[in-house]
Amino acid sequence: MQGKKAHQEKLFIQFQLSNHIPADNFYRRLKKLLDLDFLYQSTSKHYGKEGQKSIDPVVFMKLMLVGYLENIPSDRRIIASSAMRMDILYFLGHDLGEELPWHSTLSRTRKLYGEEQFITLFKQVLKLCINKGLISGKRQSVDSALIPANASKHSMIERVVMEDASVFTQELNDNIEDEPVPSENDEESNKDDQDKAAPTNQTHVSPSDPDARLTTKPGKPMNLYYRTQMSVDTKSHFITYIQAFPGNAADNVSLPEILDRVVENMNENDLQVKEILADTGYSSGEAIRALIGHDIEGYIPNPGNYKHSREEEGFTYDAENDWYTCLNGVHLPFRRIESTYNKPTLQKKIYESNISDCKNCPLKNTCANAKGFKKLVDSMDKYLYQYMQQRVQSVKGKQMKLLRSSTVEPVFGSLINHTGLKRINTKGLKQANKCMLIAATAYNLKKLLKNMIRPIKVVQKQLAHNINDTLNNILSLSGQQYALKSLSWF
Ligand code: SF4
Repeated sequence: MQGKKAHQEKLFIQFQLSNHIPADNFYRRLKKLLDLDFLYQSTSKHYGKEGQKSIDPVVFMKLMLVGYLENIPSDRRIIASSAMRMDILYFLGHDLGEELPWHSTLSRTRKLYGEEQFITLFKQVLKLCINKGLISGKRQSVDSALIPANASKHSMIERVVMEDASVFTQELNDNIEDEPVPSENDEESNKDDQDKAAPTNQTHVSPSDPDARLTTKPGKPMNLYYRTQMSVDTKSHFITYIQAFPGNAADNVSLPEILDRVVENMNENDLQVKEILADTGYSSGEAIRALIGHDIEGYIPNPGNYKHSREEEGFTYDAENDWYTCLNGVHLPFRRIESTYNKPTLQKKIYESNISDCKNCPLKNTCANAKGFKKLVDSMDKYLYQYMQQRVQSVKGKQMKLLRSSTVEPVFGSLINHTGLKRINTKGLKQANKCMLIAATAYNLKKLLKNMIRPIKVVQKQLAHNINDTLNNILSLSGQQYALKSLSWF
C-alpha cells in the first residue's frame, strides 16, 4: 500500500539542541577546542558602563570565523546561513528560535575592535597547532597574492579633489555598508575610462577606500588591490604569519618586516626559524641583510641582472685595484657611484672602459655601447647577491625551489577559493588585515581539526591489526584458520 506523509506542525515540542549535534560534528569539536574568553577582557575598553548591551564579543568573533569557514563573503548572508544551521547555532551558544545579531552589527563591531584582537586569536590558534606538534617552525615558505579591494578604479578621483573632500568622504564611508561592489564588466564604463587619462596612485585615489592601491601582475588586470603576505610552515602547510600590505608594496621591501613577524610568532612558542624560501620578487640587498641579521638561511633566486656572474660574461674582477679586466685584456676601473632616478638610496657602482681601448677591438659590436665603450653596473650589494646565487644553485637550492611552490601556492588557492579571501569586503588597510587574519585562523582551524581526527583513526587501525595478528597466531596453532573469516570485520 502506498504511503502518504501527513504533516501537521506541532505547537509545542521538547527539544535540546546539543542532543541533535553529532559528537564528530566540526562545529561541536570546534566549540570544545576554542576558548575565546580573552575577548571579554581585551574588548572591554571599547564599551562604556551604561547604555544598550552590545553584541557578545565571543559571538561576534565566532560569526566572523563562520563567514570564512563557510566561504561566505557577506555579513548579511553569514547571519542568514547561521540561523538555518543547528550546528552553527550550537557553536555560537544560541538556541533554536533565539534571535541572532543584526548583520550591520558585525560590520560596526569589526571596525570598532582593534587589529590586536584578531592577531591574538590568530596566535592562540597557532599555539594550539604547535602544541599538537604539527608545526616545526624550522623552514618557512613566504609568498604574496593580490586580493581585490572593495572599491572600483572607475570611481577614483584626483588627489587634490580628495584632500578638499576628505571630510565629506569620511562621512560617506561611515554610512556605506560593507558589501561587495558590482563587477567591472560594464563595457560603457570601460570605454569612458579609455577616453580619460589613466589614473595612477600618485595622481588618483579611491574616495571610498583611500588605502587601496592600483597595481597589476601577470594574469591580473590593473585594479585596486591589497597585497596579502603570508608564510607557511613547509612541514604541515599551516599558516604561521599573514598580514595585509598596500597593493603596490613591493615584496622585497616588505621582507624585513615579514621576517620580524614570522620569527616573533615562532619564538613566542620556543621554535626557531632556520630557513626561508621565497621567489625572485623578494630579492634585494636589504632583504638578504635582514636574513643574515636573523641568522636565517635564505633561498631566494636573484633577479635577472644578478643571475650570471661577471666571470660568465667574460670579465674578471680585481678586488685590490677595484677594476674589471675584459677578454681583450683591457681594464674597466671604478669610475663613480650612481643613484637610481626614483630611488635615491639605491646606489650602484659604475665601471667603464676608455673609448680608445675599445676602438679596434673585434668584440666591439657585441660588447661596447653606442658611444663606443663598455659600461658595467654593479650593485653595492654585489657580494650579497653572489652569496645567494651560490646557495640557490646548489642541489639543496633546487630542491627548495620545488618545495616552495608546492607549499605556499596551494594554501593561497585554498584561502582564495574556499576560505572567503576572493575579495576584501571591508574598507581600509587595517580592516583588510583583520579579514586576512580571520581567514588564516579559519584555515588553520580546519587543518587542525582534520589532523586531530587522523591520529585516532590510525590508532584504531593499528589496534585492529594487532588483534587480528594475535588471533591469527592462536588459531593457526590450534588448526582453526577458518574461524578468521568470521573476524574479517576488523
Ligand atoms: S669592447 Fe672594450 S671592453 Fe669589450 S672586450 Fe673589447 S676592449 Fe674589452
